[in-house]
Amino acid sequence: MISNQTINNLKAALSGFSTLTLKRYAGPYRHTYKWLQQTQWYSPDQLKHLQLVLLKRIVNHAYNTVPFYRNAMDADGIKPSDINRLEDIEKFRIINKADLKKSGSDMYSKKYPSLFLKTAHTGGTTGLPVPLKRDIFSIGNEHAFVRRQFDWAGLKPSDTTAYLEGRKPKFANSNANPKYHYDSAAKELTLSTFDLNEKSALDYADLIKSYNVKALIAYPSAAFVMAKVCTQNQINLHLKAVLTTAETIDEYKKNIISKAFNCDVFDFYGSSERVCYIHCCPSGTYHIIPEYGLVELKPLENSPPQTFKIIATGFWNMAMPLIRYDTKDLVVADGTKCPCGRNFPTIKKISGRESNLLTTPSAVQLGPAAIECILGRVLYQTYDMPILAARVIQDSTDTLTLEYVPTEGFSPRHLKIIQKRFNKQISSGFKAQTKAVKDIKRTPSGKFLSFVMSEHH
Ligand SMILES: [Zn+2]
Repeated sequence: MISNQTINNLKAALSGFSTLTLKRYAGPYRHTYKWLQQTQWYSPDQLKHLQLVLLKRIVNHAYNTVPFYRNAMDADGIKPSDINRLEDIEKFRIINKADLKKSGSDMYSKKYPSLFLKTAHTGGTTGLPVPLKRDIFSIGNEHAFVRRQFDWAGLKPSDTTAYLEGRKPKFANSNANPKYHYDSAAKELTLSTFDLNEKSALDYADLIKSYNVKALIAYPSAAFVMAKVCTQNQINLHLKAVLTTAETIDEYKKNIISKAFNCDVFDFYGSSERVCYIHCCPSGTYHIIPEYGLVELKPLENSPPQTFKIIATGFWNMAMPLIRYDTKDLVVADGTKCPCGRNFPTIKKISGRESNLLTTPSAVQLGPAAIECILGRVLYQTYDMPILAARVIQDSTDTLTLEYVPTEGFSPRHLKIIQKRFNKQISSGFKAQTKAVKDIKRTPSGKFLSFVMSEHH
């Protein structure tokens, strides 16, 4: 008898094959990938010129085929011919998720019949997701950018990758709830983040070994659980790279993951709206990818120093062009030139969502990256601290609770260390508490928030 798992894998390979055709063979993938090999070495002037050409193209297209932009530009007195410098982007109004929701299908280009469109949804942790349209040609382009990112992380197209993030394994039938599937066409192993715990992590490690996986693409919290479990059980996995995304990650956590898998960790940022792409180069520096979109970094009021919000214009999704889209995601600016030799803008780190700021009693705002930093100093700087996950909860204006998931070997001695360090880190007038829990719930997309406000707050 054929097992459910075999059917899952077969289904995965079939859909993998059709997706791969769309990504790599039918569309503009080869052309864009070849182009990206050259543009990565462009001078600052060449990059500016390239961006201006792509900006003019998307503005023209939006004006001519998207009702929302035709109306908005007419109302604001903007013509496509008014765009002559990159700074002219500021003539446009800034839009956000609420605008997408309100305008509905007016946001879609009338150029494409629905057959050529695919639907995705906005991410985020608050509010209902909004449908996003993508034309099938943008899929090949997107894949070319992803491919170059993987090149920078030292991965070959033939390398098998494992995913431990929002993806869900395929279902063989309605009763089955598989923890993984393997797509042999794309050479991708999908592991369920929702089922990740100390026990399943051991099974996942076995799968990673048996499928000869070379890279792990994961939420930092999930990669961390894998790293801890592998280290505790002396399982040695040699990967070429771990790529993390969608949550903030600090240096300590990065080191633990890096040690466990004997490779570098490359963090990256992307959004389902496809307006901005940020990832690390071989030197480990975060670069804003200039061929992908035009990114404006807006300073925030009362925000932590050097923190900016990403407002971005995507160059490639013709089905639903977004001009000056407010991502509500924050970054810490850098501005130094990278030793890798590329002239792409650099940033220090991704700081998380604007809506997820902690306000101290003295009215200082801390972003998720700052919280992650505190957790790093409290928990992760000790390499063998027996905990699997942790987060900070603000119970009231002046009380913070550190929730942690202890693993085998956790003793009163460890608790003392945590309490002492946490008290020291929380110096801005907060009362600090600690609480051991069995498990910490993930968001519907499987993400993990390092800071939450208590419901009673
Ligand atoms: Zn670089």
